[in-house]
Amino acid sequence: MGLDIGGSKTQAVVIDDDGAVLATARTPTVPGVAGVLEVAAATVAQALAAAGIERPRAVGVGLPGVVDSEGGVVEHAVNLGIREPVGLAGLLAGRLGVAVRCENDLNAATIGARRVLVGSGDGDVDDLAFLALGTGLAAGLLLDGRLRRGSHGAAGEIGHLIHVAGGLVCPCGQRGCLERYASGSALDAAWPSADGVPAPVAVFAAAQAGDARAQQVRATFVEALAAAVRVLVLTCDVRRVVIGGGVAALGVPLLDALTAELATQAYGSAFLRSLAIADRVRLAPAGLPVGAFGAALLAPDEEV
Ligand SMILES: [Zn+2]
Repeated sequence: MGLDIGGSKTQAVVIDDDGAVLATARTPTVPGVAGVLEVAAATVAQALAAAGIERPRAVGVGLPGVVDSEGGVVEHAVNLGIREPVGLAGLLAGRLGVAVRCENDLNAATIGARRVLVGSGDGDVDDLAFLALGTGLAAGLLLDGRLRRGSHGAAGEIGHLIHVAGGLVCPCGQRGCLERYASGSALDAAWPSADGVPAPVAVFAAAQAGDARAQQVRATFVEALAAAVRVLVLTCDVRRVVIGGGVAALGVPLLDALTAELATQAYGSAFLRSLAIADRVRLAPAGLPVGAFGAALLAPDEEV
């Protein structure tokens, strides 16, 4: 089984030995260690019931924060209300009665995305970035077949590269961060939603319908997203950049706009054209919670 414990929701996936998805479940997250444990147990039970299975062999868990996957310790998971180091893998193993492995959620999603590419006939890739385009913007990195965590667990935090000098204020304390332009929260700020329609959907629909202001908002967003893809390719030369996260649910219109922008940016540069950046981009599949799926693939081999 895999669990993806995010700031707003906890998702579970049950897979078989071949990696086929048997069932999924989804529950609102409750912050704090006790809440996380409670919701994890409930979501696991719900997914198991849907799959008609009594007990999983093992559980892999993806969480937003600094995760020591060997020691099972999680810290700086601010969105989960967990700041101080907590031995969450051990606590979850005690609660669920099975072996548990914790991993950073972006890393789990990267592993999930890799398997999806293999399954879609795209071939195996040892160099891959998973670009999580949700409330914020950050990437998971698989380089030479290994997850790149970084010396401070900050590898792939490209949302805080400066995109506009002296631009919009970012909660990180800088100005003009990429995340202020290429994220769900950036679209929320630029296009306040009136009737409950998510801002990304509203902006793309209005732009499609010819609204000049929406077209401007969409252009600014797509230009920043293309910059994020470009920086991943130019720093790590990853073979694939898989776009996931909530905003990726926009689907083909997002992919079309992004690849068109990448082509435009490469137009005047033989160097960029030779890198074929637009050809490297894929969308995460809409129906599959890639993070929970990847966490399931990372579940420990041993039983308890
Ligand atoms: Zn920032």
